[in-house]
Amino acid sequence: MRLLVTGGAGFIGSEFVRSLFSFPEAISHALRVTVLDKLTYAGVAANLDPVAAQPGYSFVHGDICDAGLVDRVMAGHDVVVHFAAESHVDRSIAGAGPFVMTNVVGTQVLLDAARKHRVGRFVHVSTDEVYGSIENGSWTEECPVAPNSPYAVSKAGSDLLALAYHRTHGMNVVVTRCSNNYGRYQFPEKVIPLFVTNLLEGRRVPLYGDGRNVRDWLHVSDHCRGIVLALLNGRPGQIYHIGGGTELTNEELTGLILDATGSSWDMVERVPDRKGHDLRYSLDCRKAADELGYTAQVDLEQGLAETVAWYREHRSWWEPLKPKARTPTAK
Ligand code: NAD
Repeated sequence: MRLLVTGGAGFIGSEFVRSLFSFPEAISHALRVTVLDKLTYAGVAANLDPVAAQPGYSFVHGDICDAGLVDRVMAGHDVVVHFAAESHVDRSIAGAGPFVMTNVVGTQVLLDAARKHRVGRFVHVSTDEVYGSIENGSWTEECPVAPNSPYAVSKAGSDLLALAYHRTHGMNVVVTRCSNNYGRYQFPEKVIPLFVTNLLEGRRVPLYGDGRNVRDWLHVSDHCRGIVLALLNGRPGQIYHIGGGTELTNEELTGLILDATGSSWDMVERVPDRKGHDLRYSLDCRKAADELGYTAQVDLEQGLAETVAWYREHRSWWEPLKPKARTPTAK
């Protein structure tokens, strides 16, 4: 199998690529994996150091919006797994331009090239945020998108494009929508690594608004396993939800992080809420369980303890990233 992985130097993409090469040798030796990544502020080339020497691995530094480059790189691949995106909601509030360009236009460029080169499978990685906010119950894959933040709108647009290429051109597209990921190598602008690294540095952590916003937490290894299952067994033109099954308010999450780092509530600073902050996201994941055999396996408290331990032991990875992790103010 010859895979093109976009955004493979980011948090989830790099976990996905590393996980491919940790499959039993009979499988991993048959893989050819090309990572295409622009190395934006969120892309860290060193995330792929563990696989850099694998014979089937290669890296291309470039932009998914560059149609000429994407056309050249796409040739010879059977599968695309598309992670590349501008991914931080707060940055999209400060400025939506790069989100529309990379997430919408970049996806269209990739779809066109994949169609031209008759790629056999296109997995588009997306988010629960495309549905908006839900007070009670959970979204199924049949629910309409109703995104609120510029980030979520750009992801919803790219999802609809991917599904349109299936419906219009018969392309073999699968869309996955997941909840909030956490784990090692996550850029320290996102809430868990931001809070953990601040606390490890003895700095306070900013808790938005009343802390009552609810998110489902998904370990990145569970997410990547779900993507492999969707890639291998998902039906063309279908959407699959990949969740962690652990809903928490931001306040509850903060409490767990304080416990895991041995910190007290004095370290928490209440800050004004994010503009347009969605109250709750919740995915119904029965379709992925029934059709793909997916269920989350990592227990949140254990996954969080391992994540904190990883950040404790890898200061040389995150300390140079902290200045770049300062989110532009969205006021
Ligand atoms: P990330 O920000 O850590 O990584 C994004 C990667 O894409 C980086 O390596 C970056 O350099 C690359 N990139 C950005 N623009 C590019 C461009 N124009 N051309 C080529 N490469 C480019 O993101 P992540 O958290 O790993 O998220 C991966 C995917 O999963 C995204 O599509 C995101 O929307 C989706 N997702 C993430 C989460 C989460 O909790 N992190 C939740 C739901 C969905």
